[in-house]
Amino acid sequence: MQRIYLDHAATTPVRLEVVEEMAPYFTAAYGNASSIHSYGQEAKAALDDARDTLAQALGAEPAEIVFTAGGTEADNLAIIGTLVANQAKGRHFITTTIEHDAVLKTADHMERLGWRVTRLPVDEYGMVTPEQVAEAISSDTALVSVMQANNEVGTILPIAEIAAEAHKRGVLMHTDAVQSFGQLPVNVDALGVDLLSLSAHKIYGPKGVGALYVRRGTPIEALIHGGGQERERRSGTENVPGIAGLAAATRLMLQERDTQAERMRRLRDQWISEALGALPNAQLNGHPIERLPNNINISVAGVEGEAMLLGLDLAGVAASSGSACASGSIEPSHVLLAMGIGPERVRSALRLTLGRATTEEELGYALDVLKKTTARLTEMTEHNISTAT
Ligand code: PLP
Repeated sequence: MQRIYLDHAATTPVRLEVVEEMAPYFTAAYGNASSIHSYGQEAKAALDDARDTLAQALGAEPAEIVFTAGGTEADNLAIIGTLVANQAKGRHFITTTIEHDAVLKTADHMERLGWRVTRLPVDEYGMVTPEQVAEAISSDTALVSVMQANNEVGTILPIAEIAAEAHKRGVLMHTDAVQSFGQLPVNVDALGVDLLSLSAHKIYGPKGVGALYVRRGTPIEALIHGGGQERERRSGTENVPGIAGLAAATRLMLQERDTQAERMRRLRDQWISEALGALPNAQLNGHPIERLPNNINISVAGVEGEAMLLGLDLAGVAASSGSACASGSIEPSHVLLAMGIGPERVRSALRLTLGRATTEEELGYALDVLKKTTARLTEMTEHNISTAT
């Protein structure tokens, strides 16, 4: 049976070129980057090279890059690290209701420790305005964290404008760019951010490695203490193969990002218009225009998202009912709920996220399967209703 992967927002396959660039650091060049001998120097050279690559990709300086064990750790370090280091200014943190749990659960944690947290509501498209942020800022606000693009509905938020409002009031700005890095231009000066999180496994790199950009001069307290690696900001022997993999994936991504984005945008829009035409009960979730090139999120009224997922999976199509951690559990999506979408439409949500290898044929097959699955499920529901009444 044909297998089609349409869940690239959850994770991506590691590119072979990336595996090849990582391989030597598991075997021949296995030194500890802190060692003085030649083995150590080889590892150190790989780290320096990776730091240069990431800095260039973001328009930053190498010293502003902190390697972490993924996007979650980068978000935790950005939020906890700056809130703790800046508490003399105040103990108020502003974020939104549609962030990834890496931000939301960290906000809960800081609230338990005594910080005041404002979670800004979003509109029906998952949008937050700079005015909302400006209004929420008070004299004790230390940090604003708003994601560049949402992982469930793909909505792209106006980070540059939000950061400008934060800076006008002397407040630090963090953005979670885990989903956008790889699809949109991500330049720390154009965005005007002080901190930015990214993750390798969303850009065809390995899992468990990421980075936090920290603008020079930003006070930040480490979360992990030990040998003082990463300029005291993240201790622990560096994951050299993983970091080399992140850098290799970044270099490859930059070569094709814009052409891929254009290609996926076209496939996405074509699929959405065909799906909405073929399924009269279907509605698009998220912003129609300000949207990640690879994101499709629809609800088919009267059909459970989980049942659709299973139907698709049986036919070889891998999709998601929301974020990876939300599916698997039956928790309804906090993002769709925050957008004011009713519980029934939330339960019938389906996310398809395209990748660099996704073809028009694959998407056509997925739509065929979806049409058959929803027809069967609707029939079953109607049958259940008629036998029950
Ligand atoms: N932030 C966003 C927006 C994400 O989509 C994810 C991953 O799903 C993360 C953070 C967490 O990144 P990681 O899986 O590398 O810990």
